Amino acid sequence: MTTTISQAQIARAVDVTADTVIRNEHYFSDLDGLAGDGDFGTSLATGFKVMKRDLPTIDAADIGALLMKLSMIVSKHVGGSSGPIWGTGFMKAAMVAKGKTEVTLEELAQMIGNAVDGIMARGGAQLGDKTLLDAVIPVAERLKAAAATGAADTGALLKDLADIADGAVDSTRSLVARRGRASQVGLRSGDTPDPGIVAVATILTDWTNTFGPGRTATAPEVAKAIA
Ligand SMILES: [Mg+2]
Repeated sequence: MTTTISQAQIARAVDVTADTVIRNEHYFSDLDGLAGDGDFGTSLATGFKVMKRDLPTIDAADIGALLMKLSMIVSKHVGGSSGPIWGTGFMKAAMVAKGKTEVTLEELAQMIGNAVDGIMARGGAQLGDKTLLDAVIPVAERLKAAAATGAADTGALLKDLADIADGAVDSTRSLVARRGRASQVGLRSGDTPDPGIVAVATILTDWTNTFGPGRTATAPEVAKAIA
């Protein structure tokens, strides 16, 4: 069967994401403060507050236009090292969705894949560098595989994606950060979760709880951050 995701569903997912980020403004900054400069939650929330406010009145003819406008908000209002990273992600996803008012699972996988490529090129990070890519890359690969075989149940797929991202919190916990601000403290990052990975896992869990069957968080930080 062919699964399609509408522009309204994409907008709703962005709105849920904004709620996740705004609710965790202080918690995500506290997590960043364990091994970084403690600005992650505030940087992200500042931009997503503008996004949440403007989302209902954004005039966009298609998903590409919507995501391109959101990328501009992110680039302008998200501070620190997160602005260019998240802004690039939205922009690269927008390029694939240009002219489309709904996307297939395969097109969604292409959007996420293009976002990953853009983030890797922009930030210079690879898998295993203890950045949000350690959650997003395996999620993108799972999505691509599901699109190739044709997922029958998008709710179950969404839960799979959240499980993968949540698992990345614990599987990367002992790694030493090599990119981003956390890399500047070297070994001090070796026993703390990466806040970007926690954020991705929390967003996907909140999506699963909103659009899918719901799930119980595995990493304690995600359990604390979900709605
Ligand atoms: Mg920081």
